[in-house]
Amino acid sequence: MVKCELCGKYTDVVHTCILCGRKVCPSCYWISMGVCKKCVPGREKEKFKV
Ligand SMILES: [Zn+2]
Ligand SMILES: [Zn+2]
Repeated sequence: MVKCELCGKYTDVVHTCILCGRKVCPSCYWISMGVCKKCVPGREKEKFKV
């Protein structure tokens, strides 16, 4: 298990943000852009509201 660096949740699957390098869980990761939720540009975030 790996701890998500954004929400602190433990997960088996981690993704690495291409911008900040954080290892985050799937719910904190924007797969289509390859970045974590903290790094999603504001405009894109509004377009793809989760
Ligand atoms: Zn997370
Ligand atoms: Zn990031």
